[in-house]
Amino acid sequence: MVSHKLNIVEVFSSIQGEGEFVGYRQVFVRLAGCNLECDFCDTPSSRTNVIEGQIEMTAGKRDFMTVKNPISIMDLSNYINKLLIVPHHSVSFTGGEPLCQAEGIAQLLPHIKGRIYLETNGTLPEKLKLVLPHIHIVSMDIKLPSIIHQDVWQQHRQFLSIANACSTFVKIVVTGKTNKMEFQKAVELIAAIDQKIPLIIQPVTPIHDCEGVTPDMMLLWQEQALIFLTDVRVIPQTHKFMGQL
Ligand code: SF4
Repeated sequence: MVSHKLNIVEVFSSIQGEGEFVGYRQVFVRLAGCNLECDFCDTPSSRTNVIEGQIEMTAGKRDFMTVKNPISIMDLSNYINKLLIVPHHSVSFTGGEPLCQAEGIAQLLPHIKGRIYLETNGTLPEKLKLVLPHIHIVSMDIKLPSIIHQDVWQQHRQFLSIANACSTFVKIVVTGKTNKMEFQKAVELIAAIDQKIPLIIQPVTPIHDCEGVTPDMMLLWQEQALIFLTDVRVIPQTHKFMGQL
């Protein structure tokens, strides 16, 4: 079997700031590389490979050590498990798009001594199949065309059908440019698979020239989604308020 290595950006302990599990303590494993180019990307430095990654040595102490990429599965699992000495809810694999390195993650996950949480843009269904047996929670984004300037509905549909085998929630980031038709299409896509899948609507954190969402519009998006889905919540990026990584 080929032994894979992983390109990482950073590994650290922090508080989950988004989605259904907001507030839980997690170890974050931020992997390099992404297959999309979202307008509002809040981790642009993770979209491409980096020569070196940063790994926190003591959970929450920000005592980062620099490591060369790519890093071996055994070295990375040892660093993650060392952070898990402090109790954490789960280990969040994030990016970038972590599934761009699905083969390496599939080799890494059996060595991790904690629950596995996958944060993904939900566009790589075949890659998801490689890691799904080791995943406990999937946080899947549905990316609206007004943000990514392309149509990935078919990939999202396949992805959510597969992910729904484990605990999955969907997150949709809305901006001032979100239109009613694309939002409706996203909600119907989720409802066609399972009306009980939780939906988190996340108002974009306005950065650069990204147009924010008015309070009135947030109420309208939630009302529109509640016609089709049973669990619809509005949660902004809370880690930004808390000054967390
Ligand atoms: S999928 Fe995530 S990492 Fe990739 S461009 Fe979009 S926001 Fe950035």
